[in-house]
Amino acid sequence: MSGINAEIQKIISSRSLTASVIEGLAQEQWDAHRDEAKRAARTGRDMYGYASEAFACERKIGFRIWGTPGGDIDFKGRWAMLGGVLGEAFVVRALDNLYKGEAQVPFADGPVHGRADYLYSAPNGDVVVGEVKMVAPFALKQALKAGPKRDHVAQAMLGAAALDANKVRIVYGCLKEDRSQEPFLDWTINVDPKLTAEARASLAGVVDAIERNELPARMFEGKVIDRPVATRSSGAKMWPCGYCPYLDTCAGLTSGVVPLDGVPTTVGKLPI
Ligand code: SF4
Repeated sequence: MSGINAEIQKIISSRSLTASVIEGLAQEQWDAHRDEAKRAARTGRDMYGYASEAFACERKIGFRIWGTPGGDIDFKGRWAMLGGVLGEAFVVRALDNLYKGEAQVPFADGPVHGRADYLYSAPNGDVVVGEVKMVAPFALKQALKAGPKRDHVAQAMLGAAALDANKVRIVYGCLKEDRSQEPFLDWTINVDPKLTAEARASLAGVVDAIERNELPARMFEGKVIDRPVATRSSGAKMWPCGYCPYLDTCAGLTSGVVPLDGVPTTVGKLPI
């Protein structure tokens, strides 16, 4: 059993794990998410990208910066989020038991802002940014073969660059019970300056586009898309990003880069 799995098992099997302890753990993690949501729902326009948006659809990041109102997440989304918060809380507690570092460390580094789930010094002198993701069983199986996703690695590396860390540790936890494998996987990776610079340039590029009064092109899975695609189930043509809160607004706009004039916003327009 790997280090993080053994530590989490210790916490879960511990007699001191009571409902109030679980509630406290979940509350800490929830507060960190809520603070991020509050920052996103600010009254002024924040001209930066979040590290958690590394390699996401640039138009989606543009909508967020521009202050376009997004749809609410549904019941299934909220349920998954609650499960994710609790899982993350256990990983953060396990890292804290092992390393006595710092949880939920905010950073601001030029056009990139974010929050590292965990920051610690390892016994060998490495300074490590920990990033925790709770994922579905199929994603955990995929990651077992292919490693963590590039956008998650980039997110952690942006935090490492801002917090002077030389390694990142990505921990994936399984959102649902799957007895065929250990519930947590983790990788410790050297900071890759090239990947960090690429992620930083992409976020800075969205900020620049908004400053030029432009909304970036639609993207899906890292590629620019300009027309709806056939869905696998019904064959109907639609934009493939059903999880995006801006889907309705996006579907009403033309493809490619579009001027921000006419794109809905709850924030005052930029002086240009
Ligand atoms: S609906 Fe899709 S293409 Fe449009 S902003 Fe959202 S993620 Fe990007």
